[in-house]
Amino acid sequence: MWAFLFIVAIAGLAAVHWSWRKRCRELNRVLDRSMREVEALKEHHLETLAHEHAQQQALFNSMTEGVLLLDQQGRVRLINQGLERLFNLSYDIRGQTIMEAFRMHELRDIVNRTTVEGHVLAEELDLPGLDNRCLQVNAATILNREGKHQGILLVFHDLTRLRQLENTRKEFVANVSHELRTPLSLIKGYVETLIDGAKDDPAVAMRFLQTIEKHADRLTYLIEDLLTISRLESGQIVLNMQAVALRPLVDRVVIDFESRTAEKKVAILNQVPTELTVRADADRLQQVLFNLVDNAMKYGKNEGRIEISAKNAGEDKAVEMCVADDGPGIPPEATERVFERFYRVDRARSREQGGTGLGLAIVKHIVQSHGGEVWVTSDPGNGAKFYFTLQRE
Ligand code: ADP
Repeated sequence: MWAFLFIVAIAGLAAVHWSWRKRCRELNRVLDRSMREVEALKEHHLETLAHEHAQQQALFNSMTEGVLLLDQQGRVRLINQGLERLFNLSYDIRGQTIMEAFRMHELRDIVNRTTVEGHVLAEELDLPGLDNRCLQVNAATILNREGKHQGILLVFHDLTRLRQLENTRKEFVANVSHELRTPLSLIKGYVETLIDGAKDDPAVAMRFLQTIEKHADRLTYLIEDLLTISRLESGQIVLNMQAVALRPLVDRVVIDFESRTAEKKVAILNQVPTELTVRADADRLQQVLFNLVDNAMKYGKNEGRIEISAKNAGEDKAVEMCVADDGPGIPPEATERVFERFYRVDRARSREQGGTGLGLAIVKHIVQSHGGEVWVTSDPGNGAKFYFTLQRE
């Protein structure tokens, strides 16, 4: 009897033990699965974080503005590529103070003011050591939820190009006012002298009236050239690109100068090969040639010779045209500058010839809008050669 009970108890215990082991194995399996899930979730989370970080970094670095983050101790914590470009930084400045990194008192003052005032807006910073770059700085403190200072964020915007454009605009307006005022005050002076009595002497009156007419013409040319420049620059002139046979176009320009060539006894030679055809806006191309021949007439010598030629330049379907004269030419230091608006080698001679100082600027603009280049070579005393390129049709 006891033996039977003992066996039953042992069997019972074995059954309990077996069921516990089974349960333990199941629990272990569940635990393993959960651990794997947790690992997978952790990995996914890390991947998402890395992806977001890469996106933020790409965004941060694609900004043209320079961004600089200072920590609570005023040390550089983060910068983007925009900032490296703006300050030509060639080494890592993280961990340095503003003064160590940039050696600029103005920048340190901006940081100090930001600490006190919370933010500094639209402060301008000149960098004479860095190609006269001019930057606009916006700075703000970063606070945590409790309002505790965490650092300072500075954003730098490059104003250099804007400044240059503004200076060019101011210079242009000043030049235009001067160019308009000069003939106007001369006209006014002659009119006053005529009113004061010169009108009573027919010979003097005629001379004065001719001078007045000359200055009035100059004003007209100037206004025409200014309108052309302004239309070209604002993109109002849309090029009507077509196949243009060069030789007949040059013939038309030569005809425009017939009376002046007779007067100055100048020969204009069209040496353009008959078969050359380019892709261009015919009216604008005629204007380029007109301006170049006009200059060759104005600054070339009496009984001189002007040659207009063209040839295949070989590379990339280009055609090179040349207008050459045998006048006094252009000094080497002026060959780059003659294409600038209102630049003249000899101001008095240009005025006397009715020049506006805009002819070559117009030429350059038209040629460049055709995708070409323009340049001049000159052997002073032996004439000037103006070249430009166009696309062959
Ligand atoms: P402008 O109305 O004064 O002629 P341009 O822009 O056409 O203005 O030319 C600028 C300057 O370049 C001229 O004032 C002149 O000094 C110089 N120049 C242009 N073409 C010639 C040339 N063929 N020979 C000598 N000087 C020239």
